Amino acid sequence: MIPSVLPTYNRAPLHFVKGEGAWLIEEDGRRFLDLGSGIAVNALGHANPDLTAALTEQASKLWHVSNLYEIPQQQALAGKLVEVTFADTVFFTNSGTEACELAVKMARKYWYEKGEKEKIEILTFSGCFHGRSSAAIAASGSEKMVKGFGPVLDGFVHLDWGDHDALNEAITDRTAAILIEPVQGEGGIRPLPDQCLKGLRKLCDEKGILLILDEVQCGVGRTGRLFAHEWAGVTPDIMMVAKGIGGGFPLGAVLATEEAASGMVAGTHGSTYGGNPLGCAVGKAVIDRISDPAFLDSVNASAGLLRQKLEGLVAAHPDTFEEVRGMGLMLGLKCTPKAAAADVVKAGYAAEVITVPAADNVVRLLPPLNITEAEIAEALARLDKAATAVEAA
Ligand SMILES: *Cc1c(COP(=O)(O)O)cnc(C)c1O
Repeated sequence: MIPSVLPTYNRAPLHFVKGEGAWLIEEDGRRFLDLGSGIAVNALGHANPDLTAALTEQASKLWHVSNLYEIPQQQALAGKLVEVTFADTVFFTNSGTEACELAVKMARKYWYEKGEKEKIEILTFSGCFHGRSSAAIAASGSEKMVKGFGPVLDGFVHLDWGDHDALNEAITDRTAAILIEPVQGEGGIRPLPDQCLKGLRKLCDEKGILLILDEVQCGVGRTGRLFAHEWAGVTPDIMMVAKGIGGGFPLGAVLATEEAASGMVAGTHGSTYGGNPLGCAVGKAVIDRISDPAFLDSVNASAGLLRQKLEGLVAAHPDTFEEVRGMGLMLGLKCTPKAAAADVVKAGYAAEVITVPAADNVVRLLPPLNITEAEIAEALARLDKAATAVEAA
């Protein structure tokens, strides 16, 4: 008999009933150190007092009105995002997938309104992940995601990550945009080198192509800058955001320049829930905190410490781990062919530490951005225990 919850997930048999900062408490009382943050979502930890206050204060006043009316909380958050990023304008969604939908629509509409109606193609890269809607799975193009779901949305060109010649050849009169994650998350924590992102920006400028960055996972402080592309010193035309921006409340956004957004006039796009007062009140508290340079300094300090300790872990467990990769507090432990990332994650559960598997046999570490030094030390002791258990099995 089919379970009452549609069985599309492989769930671990863990039942968390409470969260406190970087800790998750299981029904049976065990305290797990959370290096997953609900897949890079709980950027300020669980039950953060500032976010709880922002949410409950808003909840006691007004939950939802729809976008038929002005929403002051939405304007406040958009205003803040415009102030601290490249963007001139923001559309709020409830998820990363919806941000992908709009990013794709916005890029195509831009060229349509310029009278270049043949420009519909969006170039994407192997290992990418942009969500689960029909457009987002077409963007990824991976057989695992599209197979069996009917006609695949047209207009995506899939390129091998790092193949510069293929990229240059793929650009034609039909190319509307390049869509890329500055650091691939699901694909196995693969950072795009700064010079490549710079090169992509230059290429887009020369050829008149829009650059869309998917910062759903790597954005909102995760890499030690407010957004990952800041490290390369270039800006996109359109950017997708979600995950961390809501700190655990479902919230996403598309940020864009005035030029790139010029096709999206009244009536061209919408969302019932997107940008509702609850989500935006929380999002504002998140961005206020994370955009503070002192906070980002602390993220970089924690990231340096965690990375150094992980290098030590890799050195101590050469049969299990090959290398540490990633940026800031978006790190991956690449496992050797002898060790399966899924087994390391599972051994982590037994050692009461939460990590997240990714493609390419990588164990992902995405701790809350405000994890403490003592918690990092404890995390390493638990990861060491997990690796030792994998080697003994
Ligand atoms: C998670 C993710 C998405 C999809 O976000 P949802 O909120 O799950 O729809 C898109 N892009 C990237 C890079 C992601 O990590």
